[in-house]
Amino acid sequence: MTAKLIDGKNFAAQMKKEISTEITTRREEGHPDPGLAVILVGEDPASHIYVRNKRQACNDVGIQSFYYPLPNETEEKQIVDLIHELNQDPKVNGILLQLPLPSHIDSDGLLELINPDKDVDGFHPYNLGRLAQRRPLLRPCTPYGIMMLLDSIQQHYKNQHAVIVGASNIVGRPMALELLLAGCTVSVCHRFTGDLKHFVSDADILVSATGIPTLIKGDWIKPGATVIDVGIHRLADGSLIGDIEFAVAKEKAAWITPVPGGVGPMTTATLLKNTLIAAKNQMK
Ligand code: NAD
Repeated sequence: MTAKLIDGKNFAAQMKKEISTEITTRREEGHPDPGLAVILVGEDPASHIYVRNKRQACNDVGIQSFYYPLPNETEEKQIVDLIHELNQDPKVNGILLQLPLPSHIDSDGLLELINPDKDVDGFHPYNLGRLAQRRPLLRPCTPYGIMMLLDSIQQHYKNQHAVIVGASNIVGRPMALELLLAGCTVSVCHRFTGDLKHFVSDADILVSATGIPTLIKGDWIKPGATVIDVGIHRLADGSLIGDIEFAVAKEKAAWITPVPGGVGPMTTATLLKNTLIAAKNQMK
């Protein structure tokens, strides 16, 4: 079997078009354009690229982006004050604190200061708690984007074993909550899992998010499985690969995401969607 590709790039482009159309319609009805504030601390080159892409995507669909680049030595108090200010600003519907932050800053503490109504990354304990209780509001972008991709291929969830490799707060854990909410039986593997192959080879839906290149061997994949690769690893020649041994896995899976062009573009599109949702909710 050769798997069909799940084309995240195309799906994300379609989503962006729909978001742009909705913002134009709302503008014509007299609503202000949604606003997203982006806080970037330090000089991490990958973070600078991510932020540039997110701001460009905002621009493409008509979301105003407000940019707060801060030097590496910024004191935590300064970021606390900025978050409080942005929480109060009616032009700002969403606040994004680009991670990772420099090590002298308590990221979790700062994420908790963001008004949950403006938490467009969906990382606030309130929003994660809502997802855990099956009443999601703003949902973490990468897992929510993956759910939209799975829905687009009419993935079945009930009576399906979903295996997630990676248990981070931003991908693995909320992914488990999403798939549980959808009706899957969920297993979560992580660095202390003894026999990874055992779990992976039983997965009807596999989502891998470790950042370890080709950790998942292609011949472990269950025939006919849906395979989602969140991992991003840059090789010396500049090309990107994921967690999964793609060339072999695609001969066993029914559906598979490429890297790049799979999950990555969906994360940004979902951020835009969340910002629009937040803006609409704040009008209520
Ligand atoms: P993280 O480092 O916070 O978490 C990695 C997880 O992998 C941990 O839970 C760890 O226990 C697990 N792990 C490590 N070694 C393992 C092993 N040998 N077997 C099983 N599990 C193991 O990473 P993260 O922030 O969740 O990101 C993971 C990857 O996804 C990275 O490559 C990141 O760049 C990528 N990512 C991509 C997107 C996207 O939009 N495509 C978004 C977020 C993260």
